[in-house]
Amino acid sequence: MTNDLHPALVPIYETVLRRNPGETEFHQATYEVLESLRPVVDKRPEYVEASVIERICEPERQIIFRVPWVDDRGKCQINRGFRVEFNSALGPYKGGLRFHPSVYLGIVKFLGFEQIFKNALTGKPIGGGKGGSDFDPKGKSDAEVMRFCQSFMTELYRHLGEYTDVPAGDIGVGGREIGYLFGQYKRITNRYEAGVLTGKGLTWGGSQVRTEATGYGLVYFVNEMLLAENTTFEGKRVVVSGSGNVAIYAAEKVSQLGGTVVALSDSGGYVVDEGGVDLDTIKDIKEVRRGRISEYVQGRNARFIEDGSIWDVPCEIALPCATQNELDDAAAATLVRNGVRVVAEGANMPTTQAGTRVLREAGVKFAPGKAANAGGVATSALEMQQNASRDSWSFETTDDRLKEIMQGIFGSCMMTAEEYGMPGDYVAGANIAGFTQVADAMLALGII
Ligand code: GLU
Repeated sequence: MTNDLHPALVPIYETVLRRNPGETEFHQATYEVLESLRPVVDKRPEYVEASVIERICEPERQIIFRVPWVDDRGKCQINRGFRVEFNSALGPYKGGLRFHPSVYLGIVKFLGFEQIFKNALTGKPIGGGKGGSDFDPKGKSDAEVMRFCQSFMTELYRHLGEYTDVPAGDIGVGGREIGYLFGQYKRITNRYEAGVLTGKGLTWGGSQVRTEATGYGLVYFVNEMLLAENTTFEGKRVVVSGSGNVAIYAAEKVSQLGGTVVALSDSGGYVVDEGGVDLDTIKDIKEVRRGRISEYVQGRNARFIEDGSIWDVPCEIALPCATQNELDDAAAATLVRNGVRVVAEGANMPTTQAGTRVLREAGVKFAPGKAANAGGVATSALEMQQNASRDSWSFETTDDRLKEIMQGIFGSCMMTAEEYGMPGDYVAGANIAGFTQVADAMLALGII
């Protein structure tokens, strides 16, 4: 399907399809950006002439490696590791590592591609990359996770560096994993190079607010959307999918701003608590006990629903914060029927293309992940900045910087959408604003 693309971009998309067979998530992510570039191609033909768009769709480097490790029974296990170094026009490759059984090259490429534009939107000097493994941390002991991380880093370290490539967390990679990865990097290189990884612990080079940043940033972005409509979070019913780092801190900020989060989920189902989900309990289940969300309802006036979709729960604001393609056209239609006004993506590409179309046609305000969830990586850039100056800032200072960055991203999405004749279209605004920044740098740096 290429019918919504500018004719000059059709051969570029066809090359993406031919070069990356079967990588459907990567196709989806490129199509979405290329579709938005229609007005840019007419206004700035030099991007096509200098093959900037074609080059941006091809990663600068792709690394795939074997990760052997020994489980607690003494048996050798093999996983596959990836790092896709997508674009370094604006700075060192930057982006998280995902450990999940669904990880394959197509997922890593889609995430890396999204990251290029997201990182550009933050206004920070960071390029785009992503990595991970099909390793499943669920049900593994700490010792197994440590051995896996050490083996993963034993191969990956040669590709990293504070000026080269700076990974962080993503699904399945949190503070524990970053600790083991950093420990192994430090040991192999004999360097305390704090700026080589972000998401570190507060006592060893981490930044305040990094844990909360993606969720808080998402809600700061939505708050700007609401203010533009002359309203606020006060008294709004909100549904947040997921119960990881992004979902928990999005929910926390929503309730601080006066909204009520009535549902959260994990891969086993979702919970509905009409009085507002109690986040201390969720944090205890997820962050301390590494348990299942179904445990939430024990001794509480709340429901756990195993089958079905969290998007069946009526709300005014929906924040998909779980994973890619979790909100399809049927779910979008249900949300619209139930009166949703705003959908903002905390996860990367959680809404399918058909789902996005349903929401936009119904006039729902829609914020794409690469703008709305950029607070995580933006705070990673603040962590790099603190590491480079051997400094550490207070929670308030860092949170203020995050808020400013999210307001800046909102402003540039709005202004760019207006400039290109699509007022209120945050998808076009985010894609075009992110793209033009990277493309201008690539033009200046020559054909490399
Ligand atoms: N994985 C996060 C994202 O999707 C954060 C990446 C980072 O901090 O480098 O943006």
